[in-house]
Amino acid sequence: MEKNCTSIVWFRRDLRIEDNPALAAAARDGKLLPVFIWCPKEEGQYYPGRVSRWWLKQSLIHLQHSLKSLGAELVLIKAESTLSALLDCISAVGATKVVYNHLYGMFLPSLMSFFANYYILCGVSGNHPISLVRDHSIKQKLVELGINVQSYNGELLFEPWEVYDDNERAFTTFKAYWDKSLNMEREHVAHLPPWRLVPAEGKVENTPIEALGLENESEKSSNALLGRGWSPGWSNADKAFTELIQHHLLNYSKDRLRVGGNSTSLLSPYLHFGELSVRKVFQCVRMKQVVWKNEQNSVGEESATLFLKSVGLREYSRYICFNFPFTHERSLLSSLKHFPWDVNQAHFKAWRQGRTGYPLVDAGMRELWATGWIHNRIRVIVSSFFVKFLRLPWQWGMKYFWDTLLDADLESDIIGWQYISGSLPDGHELERMDSPQIQGFNFDPEGEYVRQWLPELARMPTEWIHHPWDAPLTVLKSAGVDLGINYPKPIIDIDLARDRLTEAIAIMRQNEATSNAANTNGTDEVVFDNADTNEENLAVVKKNTLCSSSRDQRVPSMQNSKNGIQNKKRLKLREDDRLLKDCKNGDEVSKMDDDLCSTAESSSTKKQMTNSRNSVCVPQNCSSMSSDAPYQVCGSSDVKYRWQEEIGTEEMSSKNGKMEQLKNLFLVLSFCK
Ligand SMILES: Cc1cc2nc3c(=O)[nH]c(=O)nc-3n(C[C@H](O)[C@H](O)[C@H](O)COP(=O)(O)OP(=O)(O)OC[C@H]3O[C@@H](n4cnc5c(N)ncnc54)[C@H](O)[C@@H]3O)c2cc1C
Repeated sequence: MEKNCTSIVWFRRDLRIEDNPALAAAARDGKLLPVFIWCPKEEGQYYPGRVSRWWLKQSLIHLQHSLKSLGAELVLIKAESTLSALLDCISAVGATKVVYNHLYGMFLPSLMSFFANYYILCGVSGNHPISLVRDHSIKQKLVELGINVQSYNGELLFEPWEVYDDNERAFTTFKAYWDKSLNMEREHVAHLPPWRLVPAEGKVENTPIEALGLENESEKSSNALLGRGWSPGWSNADKAFTELIQHHLLNYSKDRLRVGGNSTSLLSPYLHFGELSVRKVFQCVRMKQVVWKNEQNSVGEESATLFLKSVGLREYSRYICFNFPFTHERSLLSSLKHFPWDVNQAHFKAWRQGRTGYPLVDAGMRELWATGWIHNRIRVIVSSFFVKFLRLPWQWGMKYFWDTLLDADLESDIIGWQYISGSLPDGHELERMDSPQIQGFNFDPEGEYVRQWLPELARMPTEWIHHPWDAPLTVLKSAGVDLGINYPKPIIDIDLARDRLTEAIAIMRQNEATSNAANTNGTDEVVFDNADTNEENLAVVKKNTLCSSSRDQRVPSMQNSKNGIQNKKRLKLREDDRLLKDCKNGDEVSKMDDDLCSTAESSSTKKQMTNSRNSVCVPQNCSSMSSDAPYQVCGSSDVKYRWQEEIGTEEMSSKNGKMEQLKNLFLVLSFCK
């Protein structure tokens, strides 16, 4: 440890005082200069959206005040290059050391083809975000200049390069990953907040927060509303977390099933910007879990377990993106690359504007637009509709979420979209189609959520609220709904969407078979592009990571040697085989967030996947409500029992026969998955 040195503390997404390893280390070592460098050029296509920038701005103000109170002012810098800004700081204060906490986003300057239309639409072009690669290269350059650089894990329970299976391969299913993580030895280091900071000597120009450009004039009025509902900043994060522990955690398992109101912790934006230490969150909830277990409080224990699983999903998102760094643009299961997406910008627009004609989807999209926030279940419903009903490329939806969510977080966003798109071995099956109408009656049985966000449907009777297109004209008239005029007719018919998805899957399988056959015969020359290189070389990460010490930040190696070409085809196939095998051997494999993310499934229902998925899981008349019970083929009391166990006590309000019919249909559909 270097004592009495001057350090630069490079803040990024670790905007807190407490349990901040980089800050703690610099405070121990002597004088310090805390800096935050805003370099829009380096954000590239992942330049944050309005609400996310608003949050960042408020958090920085908060952190600035706190650091000032401790003795060292946070210097804000707007720069063209992070490296040059750091070098300027180093020379201005005579620093000999730079410390920072790791980020894990690893996005390569490569294939942006999927985004092309989206970017054209938005008038965006340019660079690619490269936090992890960028950090690594900055570190190398600083070290070359004789600067001591130390980086720390301030954002995760486990570094993504610490958790591997017995064959030292990266896990590709959440359950296996999380089981392993929970059984790993953990270093229990708590970094107490420094009680005093000694500021570095020397002068660095501090950019006023307004001049950083995080919020432009036209955004201010919309942003003002955000301040009424949210209080960014590390000490507010702390308050929110304390409130959760004291009052809401106990009933988390039950409450989180409601889509309206504050039914979950709402901690995600704090966690994204590192205003809350995930270690602290884990530790406190784990303690609650132990206490509730001792007290035989099963509700509390289940709630704590589920909450820890949610935290695990956040960890897993970093893990997958680190170990499979192509996941922001390609699915983990490569079959999806043969899927015939429908590049339909009119549909994309209707979805964004909440004008699809499906009330629950539209309510979700309007809430997102108005507030920057939607409940996890609504995220699943709108994204599922996007991919399965509209067959729009999931990457577009992922980017739109990135642009609009208050808690926009690339890794969680990617995992969320891949989960619902059939791209993960333990995610939703590609075949699965959840009718928004049925989802509506399940998760918004009284239609309150829809009425809140779609004022044009405010007077629709509950019976018709989730499928106004079926309502008699007299009902529509008395509710003031003129379909196609003040509320759209469905942009796609459910039966048609189902047929198209079935066709698209058939085409995908055919394309995949042709491509595999061509590869096996050696007739198809492998195009040596980044896409192939990344997937293959990064599949086995542990041995390939570049690092200097066990604590160091690692970067997956990207070998692009000519020798690699020989093995490319075989390795690629092997990797996909492995992913599928992981899934098929899945007696123990459950959907990664069956209790958290999904709208209907349970881990056990995964095992009940039938052979005739297409015809059974997407039944002809899933939308019609007039179906009697042609789907009973999959129902079994055993499955039903387990399903009820997991989805639990939630009773659908079923005041009339139609609702009951929908409920039955929903149950049967769920069993089929
Ligand atoms: C399509 C899609 C896109 C998503 N995009 C994002 C995103 O951009 N940013 C984001 O933070 N989350 C995203 N999620 C995950 C999840 O919806 C949110 O983390 C959650 O709704 C945040 O609310 P909360 O803090 O009240 O969660 P809680 O239920 O209280 O969970 C506690 C914490 O666990 C983590 N967590 C919970 N669920 C997940 C999950 N499925 N994946 C990763 N972490 C999870 C979050 O950090 C969350 O704050 C996405 C999910 C889907 C299906």
